[in-house]
Amino acid sequence: MGQLVLADDDMVERSNLPRQVAYRETDLGKEKATALAAQLKALNSHIQCRAVKRRLEGTALSLEVSLADMVLDCSDNMATRQAVNAACVEHKKPLIAGAAIGWQGQLMTFDFRQPHQPCYHCLFPAEIEPHARNCQSAGVAGPVVGTVGNLQALEAIKCLLGKVLDTIFYQFDAHTLSLKKMPIPRDPDCAVCRCRTTTHKETSCADLAE
Ligand SMILES: [Zn+2]
Repeated sequence: MGQLVLADDDMVERSNLPRQVAYRETDLGKEKATALAAQLKALNSHIQCRAVKRRLEGTALSLEVSLADMVLDCSDNMATRQAVNAACVEHKKPLIAGAAIGWQGQLMTFDFRQPHQPCYHCLFPAEIEPHARNCQSAGVAGPVVGTVGNLQALEAIKCLLGKVLDTIFYQFDAHTLSLKKMPIPRDPDCAVCRCRTTTHKETSCADLAE
């Protein structure tokens, strides 16, 4: 049976409740990873969850990604998104990334099991968000978050059923309820994915430089 690994170092705050609908008032002050695991268990006792109550980075992030069938990035900051992307590129895992701000939602799908794939860093090469805009500082219409989350869940189910994910950037506009679909071009100079080759073995940057 499969298992969900839920990683989050945050605590449930009252302002989360309108958009992070897995949490209840009784979860306020609790660790999000633990509270989410408990809510999922209450929904369906057959769900297997492991809560990781800290921000995954470095070796721990790399290890968790290496063990996963796929990764859903639901984070709210650029540093985490870049680190998760790099780990997925390294371990050739599908990545389904979601983000939301204001009335706009974004869904990005990558399948690093396939060769020559662009990555998140090709699209957003900056390591830091220009104005540190996230839901906390800029606000978000609550249902936009749920809409993006459901789209991520749909792509995750298709991936689990064996579908190869297309590398696509979807822009959801809550004002018009439109979903714009755009291809993600590969940056040949991308610092994260440019060292991957189509040969049977990985070629490191050091090898290429020789
Ligand atoms: Zn890249």
